[in-house]
Amino acid sequence: MTQTTNTDSYQAMLAAVQAFHDKHDFKNTGGEDMLYRIALMSEELGEVAECVTKGKPVEALSEEVADLLILIIGTAVSADFDLNQAFWKKMDRLMQRESKMIDGRIRVSEFRDK
Ligand SMILES: [Mg+2]
Repeated sequence: MTQTTNTDSYQAMLAAVQAFHDKHDFKNTGGEDMLYRIALMSEELGEVAECVTKGKPVEALSEEVADLLILIIGTAVSADFDLNQAFWKKMDRLMQRESKMIDGRIRVSEFRDK
């Protein structure tokens, strides 16, 4: 990555993850198999949880969340969908939803079965 690359964008992150997939030929070596990716994402989510439950420093938490984000972006590469477009479409819907306090914590949902 050159120093002039704007790293503060989804397109830059997507290009980096695509380059990672290409470097190891994930497409032809099982790295883009969806069941395998679900297992990897679960593994990283567990590492995120461990940071919280074991009170690890925020640097450790940020690294594990980055691992998960890289896998999520890679899953968009693997399944061939536009995560940037999906993000904004879903964000617009979430912003329209109502919130409720449930057991002392806020929940944002459609609350279909009120
Ligand atoms: Mg990790």
